[in-house]
Parts: sequence; structure tokens; C-alpha cells
Amino acid sequence: MNRRKTRQICVGGVTIGGDAPISVQSMTAGYTHDVDECVAEINKLVHAGADIVRVAVPEKKDTAALPEILAQVNVPIVADVHFHFKRALEAIEAGVHKIRLNPGNIGDVEQVNAVIDACKDAEIPIRIGVNEGSVVERKDKQKRQEELASFFSDRKHGHLLAMMIAKVEEYLEVFDARDFHNICLSAKLMDARLVIDIYEELSKRFDYPLHLGVTHAGPRETGSIRSISALGSLLSQGIGDTIRISYASDPVFEVEDGIELLNCLGLRDRIGAELIACPSCGRIQVDLFTLVDDVRNQLQNEIELPIKVAVMGCVVNGPGEAEGADVAVFAGDRRGIIYVQGQRVANVPEEEILERLLHECKELQTRVLDGKTKLGEKAVTITPPPESQPLTVEGHHP
Ligand code: SF4
Repeated sequence: MNRRKTRQICVGGVTIGGDAPISVQSMTAGYTHDVDECVAEINKLVHAGADIVRVAVPEKKDTAALPEILAQVNVPIVADVHFHFKRALEAIEAGVHKIRLNPGNIGDVEQVNAVIDACKDAEIPIRIGVNEGSVVERKDKQKRQEELASFFSDRKHGHLLAMMIAKVEEYLEVFDARDFHNICLSAKLMDARLVIDIYEELSKRFDYPLHLGVTHAGPRETGSIRSISALGSLLSQGIGDTIRISYASDPVFEVEDGIELLNCLGLRDRIGAELIACPSCGRIQVDLFTLVDDVRNQLQNEIELPIKVAVMGCVVNGPGEAEGADVAVFAGDRRGIIYVQGQRVANVPEEEILERLLHECKELQTRVLDGKTKLGEKAVTITPPPESQPLTVEGHHP
């Protein structure tokens, strides 16, 4: 996939833009001034794989907590500032690695300039984040908005897109005037189609790195789909340098979903096992959903290598679907037939499948770590085993 060329910025030790790996961010959900809680939440996000963590600093007591927080965590921290430019100055003084600013809700341009100058001195970047909810029409920008509105006239909510682009341009003029280019851009909306439209436009117009996200996406069930449909489309076009999946649930899930999205698009090397499983159907031979949940939880805890593990509910189509798996189990008549690197190694009753499968994964992990074999070698390319005989009816996979 060809990635669009962008400038690079550095957030703590993490590079964003250019050919740097696409980073995954999230934001703490608790109060920043509660140092212990905040540190614990940041560490949970880091453990889940977050490259960068953002914290809100609405009050002075929040920025006052930053030095202690920064001393206890080992990940770049971004201070999220709205309305109060002094919070940005305090956060920069405390040593944060980046400021997220919505210049539109800091009324005085001199206050924005003070933040820009402080970031320049501290050599930290600013994300200019425009959200659909904070775009306010300005009479002096009417002409530009009208120009852009005609450009977007064929699109749903074209006027809103025009206003947001005009806002980004307007803010960038302020930053250009200070010769400050240590910037990344975001423009978030709730509608996935509009998010795609606006980032495509930003990508054409500016070479600053882009922070992708969908705002107020809703609960996890729908919010994850909303986010992933928009971000997946953009990333597959090579647009986007850092991402945040966001929804109303534990931010740890946001990080996990963001990483999985990058894994699925081949934009990030997988850490830990990759589980593939059939969706189940009327040919099912074991309690597949429970087995898949159990395998998933155990693999997360025990396997660090990207071993591809397949859990298939029967042998009719299972082997074909498990093609490429390093370890696979095919269910048959309340039993599990287990394959490792294409070789059949066990045929165990249903209640022993989980333990045996995990044992085989750990053994394979050890052999790979010892340099005795490689993942992806001798992967599953089998035909259904003899036990499948009663099941070898013509199968139609759902
Ligand atoms: Fe699973 Fe496919 Fe077998 Fe149905 S036919 S149980 S979906 S492997």
C-alpha cells in the first residue's frame, strides 16, 4: 500500500508521518488530577499497545498533576486543551510531549500565539484538532466558505465540510505567521462518510501528518464499526499517520481495535497470536463459540509470537478455511483433530481441546524462539482426515 507522503513530527520518542509506522493513540477516561488513577489507566493503555496517550487538562489541578504523572509513565503524553490557553502553557512547562489544541475555542489569537511560541521553545508539536461540534461560522470567512461550499456541493453536508476545511486553513494561517510547522491535523465528525470525505480533502491540500478519528462515535458495538469503516477506508488509500478509535467504552478496547485494524491492513506487525475461526453453522460438531472465546483468552495471555491459530467447527470446509494456519483444530463428532505445521498431532475429546491446543501453541512458540522452525512454514494444506468420513458431504460454506 502506497502511503501518502507527509512531514514528520516527533512526539516523545514516537515519530508520526512520513514513512514512520502508523501509531495508535487513546485517551484516558478518568480525571487527570487523580494521579494514581491516571497513571494506572495510562499503564493499562500502554500494556494494551498504545503508542501515545492523551489526557484532558480542563483545570489547573490537572496540569498540576502532570509532573508526577510524567515521572511515573513511560509513554509520550499529549495534553488535550480546550478554551484555556493557560492550561496549555502549564502542560508544556510540566513537560508533556505534545499539545492538542482547538484554536477555535481559544478566543484571542495572541493566546494561541503564546502556546505556539511555548511549543516552539519546548520543541514539541501541536495537533490542530477541528471537530464538527466546535465549528462556528465567522462572517469574515464567509467568502472562503462559500467557495469551498460550491466545491463540496455534490456531497452530503457539503457546507459543514466546507466550514471545517476553511477553519483548518484559517488556523494554519496563524501557525504559518509564527513559522511553526511542527503540526499534525485532525478534523473529526460522527458520520463515517464525511470523515472519509474531509480527510481525503485534507490529504490533498496539506502535507502535515494526519491524526485520524471519528468523534462521538457512540457505544462500542456501533462506534467501533463507525470508526473502523472510516479509518479503514482512509488507511487503505494510504491516508493517515496516527489513529484513535474512539467510542463510549473502556479505552483499552479502543487501543486493541486500533491495533487489530492496522494488523488486518498489513500496516503493523502483529504481536501475539492471530486467531481465525469459522462462524459456525448447522454442521457444527462442538460448542464452538465457547471454545473460540476460551482459546482467544488463553492465547492473549500465553502467546507472544504471531502464530496463526485456526478453530474450525467441522471438517467439511474447515481445512480449506484454515489454509495457512500454523496450528489448527477441526471439530468432528465432539472431538478435536489438531494439526501443527500441517501435521496431525492429536485427536482429543471436546473437553481436552483447549488444553491440548494451547500446549501445541506453546511448544511451537518455544521451537520458533529456539530457531528450530519458522512460522508460516508447513502451514495447513491438508484434506479432511479419515474421521471426517461421515461428514464428507458436499459442504456449502456460509
Ligand atoms: Fe464451521 Fe464452515 Fe464447518 Fe460450518 S461448514 S461448522 S462454518 S467450518
